[in-house]
Amino acid sequence: MKTISIFSFMLIAIFGIAFIVKTNRAYIKSKVHMVKRACYNNYRNKTSFNKYSIKNDNYRLHRKVAKRHYVGLIKNNVEIKDGLKSGKLVKVNAAAGFEIAKLQYSKKVLAPRSYKILKKLGSRFAMVAGKNDFFTVTSLTRTALQQEQLSSRNRNATKGISTHSYGASFDISYSRFNGKRCQNQKMKDYLVRELSNLQKEGEIYVIDEKANYCFHITVIK
Ligand SMILES: [Zn+2]
Repeated sequence: MKTISIFSFMLIAIFGIAFIVKTNRAYIKSKVHMVKRACYNNYRNKTSFNKYSIKNDNYRLHRKVAKRHYVGLIKNNVEIKDGLKSGKLVKVNAAAGFEIAKLQYSKKVLAPRSYKILKKLGSRFAMVAGKNDFFTVTSLTRTALQQEQLSSRNRNATKGISTHSYGASFDISYSRFNGKRCQNQKMKDYLVRELSNLQKEGEIYVIDEKANYCFHITVIK
């Protein structure tokens, strides 16, 4: 009799715990969904700088100018090392107005001219947004090998040769500002404004990669 009552007590306890875990999970899930939803609604907001908007430049144009940077198509890590030695590539560090994310499919290097323009964009952004504000660079130079790995994982990634493999391009997230995920409409407006200025000055081509919440930028050479 005693064994039966212990057994039924244990059974009730197990079901009780399972129920609590399940409802807790559902609660967390709905919270995450709410945050995602709030971010999503923000993305759809119109930028407040109406005269500034990003024009999407055809990827063919990006490819054309990417090849003009002296590096050529970077196939592997050895070619990255060679590029750094010869000065065709330079190391990229965070500077005024921007930080570099932890990179999974790219290396912290760029063609010298691309780095110069990234720093120009960063300092202009910090000038209008605030000297402590910064955006996040999420992708820099990818070897052809890394590009292949990325395309097999992410169906939004460019198939074939990417302008990232010439040291000419970088990506900037517009769902992360000052190190925080989720949209900051004011900061996005400042970024759009400064990108649009550089685009009009003939320094960059831009594509709004909506699926990845980032701008793909190629520096014109
Ligand atoms: Zn890109």
